[in-house]
Amino acid sequence: MERVFSGMRPTGKLHLGHLAGALTNWVKLQDSYDCYYSIVDWHAMMSDYEDPSMMRQNCTEVLLDWLASGIDPEKSCVFVQSHVHEHAELALALAMVTPLGWLFRNPIYKEQLRNIENRDIQNYAFLGYPVLMAADILLYKATIVPVGEDQDAHLELSREIARRFNHFFGENRLPEPQMLLTPTPKVPGTDGRKMSKSYNNSLLISEDSGSMWEKLRTMVTDPARIKRTDPGEPDKCPVWDIQKVFNNDQQELLEIAEGCRTAGIGCIDCKKKLNGHVDRVMAPILEKRRKYENSPELLSDILNEGAKRARKVARETMLELREAMGLLIES
Ligand code: ADP
Repeated sequence: MERVFSGMRPTGKLHLGHLAGALTNWVKLQDSYDCYYSIVDWHAMMSDYEDPSMMRQNCTEVLLDWLASGIDPEKSCVFVQSHVHEHAELALALAMVTPLGWLFRNPIYKEQLRNIENRDIQNYAFLGYPVLMAADILLYKATIVPVGEDQDAHLELSREIARRFNHFFGENRLPEPQMLLTPTPKVPGTDGRKMSKSYNNSLLISEDSGSMWEKLRTMVTDPARIKRTDPGEPDKCPVWDIQKVFNNDQQELLEIAEGCRTAGIGCIDCKKKLNGHVDRVMAPILEKRRKYENSPELLSDILNEGAKRARKVARETMLELREAMGLLIES
């Protein structure tokens, strides 16, 4: 079975963008692939080292959101990156064959240097983010990596690093991973920008139904609809984008679009309908999350078991690579 690897950084509770843009797809992949899903805490540490006080709590939140969304530890290997030391070791090995120019030219790095203001990311580790990401994937010889379009440049670097490693240490030793683009478009947040933790505009997976409605109720809509009698344009409305993700009733969708364009319905009517669908989808997820929240021992068991499983593969790969690189193997 082909192997899938993907990860998320433990930076807090996950939102509906993560659910629709990644997790729903991850859940589907579990039935056809050997899936490795990692909470990549070293990646979070690269930028958040100044204040890692929430790191542990955040790992738990991510795990809870994953399990609630349907990631099944019986099917997938679910683990914390730092529990498997070989991630750090392989990152060091791959660093040998990664030219500095590739890292300095990385467009994601350049963009982050421009945009991240509240943290000091002028460190050696953060520059090497794509090297650790390559290690994450190549450690399991995963060939399929489900990620959003924003990760395109990083995955290309993973392939280039694998290729260069193979050039020095043996053809086809590391398979070049392919990106599996998740088809869902960007999910907007309550202010109409991309839903993101850093914009404080998120609808959380763990949101209870009361606060979900409060956020939906006050969410921005087509700015042209100021009064109830003003007609609107769904394609300019972020609420409509969320309707398309959660509302599976095609007839109702047509009626909402028509009602919006003719001012036949108001924004609140549209939002009430959306809230019903979000509630339907999220209620079982929330219930599952509550169950796991009350079983901390089960959560540790899942992570211990996942680390054990991951470590087995990781150790095999590293033994092979250490030999290939000409290191003295301890007997
Ligand atoms: P990380 O830092 O862990 O990579 P991100 O917040 O960048 O976390 O999100 C991880 C993945 O979740 C992204 O690559 C993307 O596929 C998906 N995602 C995040 N936010 C959204 C969104 N608003 N709409 C759609 N997909 C999203």
